[in-house]
Amino acid sequence: MPKPEHVVIIGAGIIGAASAYQLVRAGVQVTLIEPGRPGDEQASSYGNAGWLSSHSVLPPASPGIWMQVPKWLADPLGPLAVRWKYFPRALPWLIRYLSAAWTYPQVERTAQGLRSLLRDAPILHKQMASEAGVPELIEQRGLLHAFLSREEFEKDARAWAIRKKEGVQWQELDAQALQALEPDLDPRYTFGVLVPETGSCRNPGAYTAALIRYVQSKGATLIHTHATGFRIEAGRLKAVLTKQGEILCDRAVIAAGARAKALALAAGDAVSLETERGYHAVINNPEFSPRMPTMFADCKVIVNAMEQGLRVAGQVEIAATDDTPDWRRAEILRDHLLSLYPGLPRDLPTERIKLWMGRRPSTPDGLPCIGEARGSRDIIHAYGHGHVGLVGSARTGRLVAQLAQGLPPEIPLKPFSPQRFQ
Ligand SMILES: Cc1cc2nc3c(=O)[nH]c(=O)nc-3n(C[C@H](O)[C@H](O)[C@H](O)COP(=O)(O)OP(=O)(O)OC[C@H]3O[C@@H](n4cnc5c(N)ncnc54)[C@H](O)[C@@H]3O)c2cc1C
Repeated sequence: MPKPEHVVIIGAGIIGAASAYQLVRAGVQVTLIEPGRPGDEQASSYGNAGWLSSHSVLPPASPGIWMQVPKWLADPLGPLAVRWKYFPRALPWLIRYLSAAWTYPQVERTAQGLRSLLRDAPILHKQMASEAGVPELIEQRGLLHAFLSREEFEKDARAWAIRKKEGVQWQELDAQALQALEPDLDPRYTFGVLVPETGSCRNPGAYTAALIRYVQSKGATLIHTHATGFRIEAGRLKAVLTKQGEILCDRAVIAAGARAKALALAAGDAVSLETERGYHAVINNPEFSPRMPTMFADCKVIVNAMEQGLRVAGQVEIAATDDTPDWRRAEILRDHLLSLYPGLPRDLPTERIKLWMGRRPSTPDGLPCIGEARGSRDIIHAYGHGHVGLVGSARTGRLVAQLAQGLPPEIPLKPFSPQRFQ
């Protein structure tokens, strides 16, 4: 394929931003379409936990997890819940979700695919952030997993063995070493795992916005509207359709996150994509900050000290994309945060706490869709990154730029085929 003259990227979340970054650097003319302000609250990329977890290679489901389905339906405030009224709509996705991780060989295959996407991600992000003028937003100090006990960690031994097989290394911390690293942590946590190769982002929304500013400074255009479809003639893309009319182009990238499904269909692919809604609570001006971004295995939350304050993020809620948020979920996160760090004041005034709900764009097998569309090779899918969209965006951007220029992709794309659901 000849080098494209004009690429239109639909969506300016972190996936669209990283794709634009790579294309602009390759000397390609880029237009971004985004209804909101890049990196703002409408995007999942605004409020995530900031983990650059190159070791997050396991799918969200696991063998035997099907036994928990009644609990997901019965406990609307549990860490994973499905809204009753949405259950029939979500059922096909849920069946694929369970069956994609039915056996450990399946989980290992997913881990191989994800590892190929995530390996070196903290380094790639540092390079992008430096070039965009915000190197301070990316930290490469590793990430911490905190467990109540060594036994709790060992219950998950199979998952850690799969990570090890993929080359992930870690350090184990006993109670004393954990307290020395995190003196403010509640002492009920007595075992830790530190993964040094990983990193974190101190403000994912600002990072996304900085990448967009960078590409604009290099000549990319940003148009505030919604993309609605494509004009394809004899298999070749002629234009992206928007609420403000057509934009002529010879390549397009679907990077619309949780809202990508209709655009994927317009490009000829019926993909399995659901919204796994997640929440965060941020305490501004916290009395102290934990040293390490930390995931707590028992309550399944991530705590990260960010530019805006101390953020706690988590929860998975399967519900319609535009259904109203259930703020009790974010309040549960806030309460977890207070119990994890006893030094935080109990009587925080509401104006010091900000709550947010975001939409993870999730495929049932935990692998994103990256590849050419069936309806036209000129349209590239780049969404469905679920829980690993921030960390996975750096290599996704490189792959998108390679595909758009007709270059061989730097890793095999079969695991990410948008056609795998058909
Ligand atoms: C609580 C929570 C915690 C998380 N923690 C982490 C983490 O620690 N590490 C990690 O790697 N990932 C994490 N994630 C996941 C990560 O945030 C997402 O996978 C990632 O942000 C997805 O990026 P995106 O660009 O695909 O989508 P988005 O960021 O949602 O961006 C999509 C953009 O497309 C735009 N758009 C939609 N429709 C159209 C249209 N028709 N036309 C034009 N534009 C359109 C939207 O306005 C939006 O700005 C977390 C997610 C949540 C919710």
